[in-house]
Amino acid sequence: MLDLTIQTDQTVAMPEAPYVARHFIDGQYHDSADGRTSDRVSPSHGIVVSRAALGTASETGAAIAAARRAFDDGCWSDLSGKERAIVLNRVADLIEANEERLAVIETLESGKPISQARGECGGAADLWRYAASLARASHGDSHNTLGTDILGVVLKEPIGVVSIITPWNFPFWILSQKLPFALAAGCTCVVKPSEMTPSTTAMLGELLNEAGLPAGVCNIVLGHGDPVGSLMTTHKDVDMVSFTGSTAVGKLITKSAGDSLKKVALELGGKNPQVIFPDADLESAADAVTFGVYFNVGQCCNSSSRIIVHEDIADAFVERVVALSRQVVFGNPMHPDTQVGAIVTADHQQKIDGYVRAARDQGAEVMLGGGMMEVPGLGQQFYQPTVVRGVTPEMEIARAEVFGPVLSVLTFRDFDEAVALVNDSAYGLSAGVWSEDVHTCLSFCRKAQAGTVWTNTWMDGFPELAFGGMKESGQGREIGRYGFEEFLEVKSLVMRIGRSRAPWVKTG
Ligand code: NDP
Repeated sequence: MLDLTIQTDQTVAMPEAPYVARHFIDGQYHDSADGRTSDRVSPSHGIVVSRAALGTASETGAAIAAARRAFDDGCWSDLSGKERAIVLNRVADLIEANEERLAVIETLESGKPISQARGECGGAADLWRYAASLARASHGDSHNTLGTDILGVVLKEPIGVVSIITPWNFPFWILSQKLPFALAAGCTCVVKPSEMTPSTTAMLGELLNEAGLPAGVCNIVLGHGDPVGSLMTTHKDVDMVSFTGSTAVGKLITKSAGDSLKKVALELGGKNPQVIFPDADLESAADAVTFGVYFNVGQCCNSSSRIIVHEDIADAFVERVVALSRQVVFGNPMHPDTQVGAIVTADHQQKIDGYVRAARDQGAEVMLGGGMMEVPGLGQQFYQPTVVRGVTPEMEIARAEVFGPVLSVLTFRDFDEAVALVNDSAYGLSAGVWSEDVHTCLSFCRKAQAGTVWTNTWMDGFPELAFGGMKESGQGREIGRYGFEEFLEVKSLVMRIGRSRAPWVKTG
């Protein structure tokens, strides 16, 4: 039996009534034309915590039309960078002022701990402020070496109407990795959150209005991938799709958007390894591995769900990780001390358990956990911290994005084998290396097929640094200057100065 510190008292107060989330189209709030709604039952508390309008093709079409009109009339795209930055900075202030309201509903809908939700909702303000700074700093190039009579200018212009589709695991944070950057570039947007976690996105609509964003510049449609998401990826008036979610849906979107050659930016899954060399600061590495696998109950594209440990230190290292795992506070997400909360749905919980059972059947050893967890007073939609040893590269648990609090342990003998194991994956989102030798770290960074490589740390992130994946982890980048540039088109101007152009037609 696991000895976990489960907190059940002194929790944050529950809201008095479910939050009612409505579509936000052309600056107005709407119910669905057919009146349909969807209730979100909290994964941790088992009660209805929000009731959201369930969008149809009618609301989706209206939202796309509003975004198109707002883009074409220039009410946003024609503003100066300074004017756009002022609005984005106001949104950032309002996000901070509303942090607690956002965090409470985010916790109840997603199952994540309140302390983490506060960090993500309040912390997202920094993404908005950084995007605001880019709105002012954006510039193209000029070329004055093309001849004395030619000036070449490369302009950056907003790409147009952007569809933004987000998942349930970091609803407000992932939205803030996309929307402020698209707005900073001058684009207009249609946003669809996961129907499991619609409320903080709907609340953001209120804040955008209060901040003075012109009507139609950002529209929010609530509902399912079909019909809302699919129309957002195929409609002729949409110029770009920015999606975060599963690789399977990402591939579908690439195909459906391909008919009209829309630009598609994808942030998908990962099977992110941390490699631990014997000369590493093993205490710090063990802590980072523990954090990397349990953060957001492992429901994280950046989850470090596999570690590759040098065989000489594997026993001691895994023992240390198991010992640390026992001290992580799993439990009621509404308690301020909780570090790990509930699994998003019962179906997903079964899927996680299936991976662990299959690994056990294939000969792997479950050293810790490996089953459902009951939190007193809250039910069973929780999963134990789980460490699986003796995992071999061909096992499904070593290859699939488990998306749960489950660590797979593999071992290596030398540097080349470690790198081969790292790159033996369909994914290429992120990777980590632990060593005190700068040569080992640098060689690893150069050889790892991953969009982000951490050395002697895990999941430190900054708005300034681009984020995204190689291989089946996605295409394009988010945040940072590179993420911002995704929302810009490039237009070249060739300007002849004076009357130096030689005529093509010989006129005698
Ligand atoms: P999905 O990829 O199915 O969903 C992500 C978003 O896409 C949701 O808003 C969803 O809408 C929408 N969507 C679904 N189908 C379509 C479509 N045909 N066209 C346009 N949009 C669509 O992820 P899930 O939420 O179902 O999670 C399944 C698995 O995906 C997880 O177990 C995990 O492995 C992975 N995942 C990875 C994430 C990451 O961060 N990389 C994030 C989330 C999941 P709706 O669900 O409302 O119908």
